[in-house]
Amino acid sequence: MIVTIDGPAGAGKSTIAKLLAEKIGFLYVDTGAMYRALTLKIIRYGIAFSDTQAIVSLAKKTVIQLQKNDGTQQTKVMLDGNDVSEDIRHPEITNAVFNIAGMPEIRRIMVQWQRGYGKAGNIVMEGRDIGTVVFPHAEKKFYLDATPPVRAQRRFRELEEKGVGIGLDEVVRQIKDRDYKDMTRTCGPLKKADDAVYIDSTRRQISEVVDTLLTYLDNEKVI
Ligand code: C5P
Repeated sequence: MIVTIDGPAGAGKSTIAKLLAEKIGFLYVDTGAMYRALTLKIIRYGIAFSDTQAIVSLAKKTVIQLQKNDGTQQTKVMLDGNDVSEDIRHPEITNAVFNIAGMPEIRRIMVQWQRGYGKAGNIVMEGRDIGTVVFPHAEKKFYLDATPPVRAQRRFRELEEKGVGIGLDEVVRQIKDRDYKDMTRTCGPLKKADDAVYIDSTRRQISEVVDTLLTYLDNEKVI
């Protein structure tokens, strides 16, 4: 069974998808981490984002693995065998991912990798185009949303905890910019699939949202 969760940055997708996967014993797949890992590699190799050919060729020689850390809810992100879980969360990467997220050739490669996880069995996969492009026939689809100020506030707190010195106004600007880029690209834009359940997490606790998602899942299939 495949469960997809799409939505904008700061809607709570990662936390909620992770908890849901844990509760129902499914594999959790964070596709944003895959785009981030490739972005990190491009920057480390000093390749210009305008050089699509070099980027595609680099992607074809890249191995990205999402490994479950036993006993914790964390997933390790491995780039060519090296743990980059921390490095890919750096603001420099967050602000650069859009460069490759709009490349149709790169999205095709990512979609192929992501479909590979579907063959492994039961998964909860989160991203932007999972219910629309990666698994249009998924058994259960969700679109998780929250108002922009609340999403920015959540991101701001996350960055504060990490010790990143950034003002709330700047975070609001970055979230709006990312929404715009994610929603307006031609290939694989962020969009609610027609058959996805829309969930607004603005005024709700994480555990409440997870419980709501659980009520939508067909228990017989899940257990
Ligand atoms: O989910 P996360 O914020 O880590 O994703 C980082 C970026 O990766 C997004 O802003 C988006 O541009 C890109 N992305 C994407 N398609 C996905 C997942 C992420 O284009 N399925």
